[in-house]
Amino acid sequence: MGRYTGPVCKLCRRERMKLYLKGEKCYTEKCPLEKKNYPPGQHGPYRRARLSEYGIQLREKQKLRRIYGVFERQFRRYFEMATKQKGKTGENLIKILERRLDNVVYRLGFAPSRKAARQLVKHRHILVNGKVVDIPSYLVEPGDEIRVRDKSKELEIIHNSLRRVTETSLVPWLQLNKANLSGVFMYTPERSEIPVNVNEQLIVELYSK
Ligand code: SF4
Repeated sequence: MGRYTGPVCKLCRRERMKLYLKGEKCYTEKCPLEKKNYPPGQHGPYRRARLSEYGIQLREKQKLRRIYGVFERQFRRYFEMATKQKGKTGENLIKILERRLDNVVYRLGFAPSRKAARQLVKHRHILVNGKVVDIPSYLVEPGDEIRVRDKSKELEIIHNSLRRVTETSLVPWLQLNKANLSGVFMYTPERSEIPVNVNEQLIVELYSK
């Protein structure tokens, strides 16, 4: 199965929220959601938003999957992992997704979107603890250092993206050293710290059927 390559803004409109899939455009007035906050398609503006319980749970799952850019099969695997951990399954699920290397690279500001971060990782621009890691789904551990490879330090995409990052926009569990393009994943955040507007309990209910 291939990755979704259609118009990504459609996905945000479907979920009626910004999923920040497009990079710089998401932070400007060019984001279509600034004007059209209704589902895509001819009947989008008129479609009645009365969903079944299942429909609501499904939308919530799709939303989370699309935010992190994960396929159903892998998402399901994360869910299984989450059920085996102590604590609330839904919260564990989001904490696992947050540890994905492509997500950490995005959060550090080295890429304007998770999709672009995935490309940086796949093209071997990123080191974890001094070694190249080209697997976007690699799960980062507390204390890991994430660094842009020396030969990749001039990449325009990284510098353009980093301009967006300020001390206040950086999440508290990451430490960023802009000067040498590196960062540390200090600790695994609690669910309450993760700025992802999804009701994970609905996803647990969906998979528990
Ligand atoms: Fe979503 Fe970004 Fe497109 Fe806006 S610009 S609809 S946030 S992908």
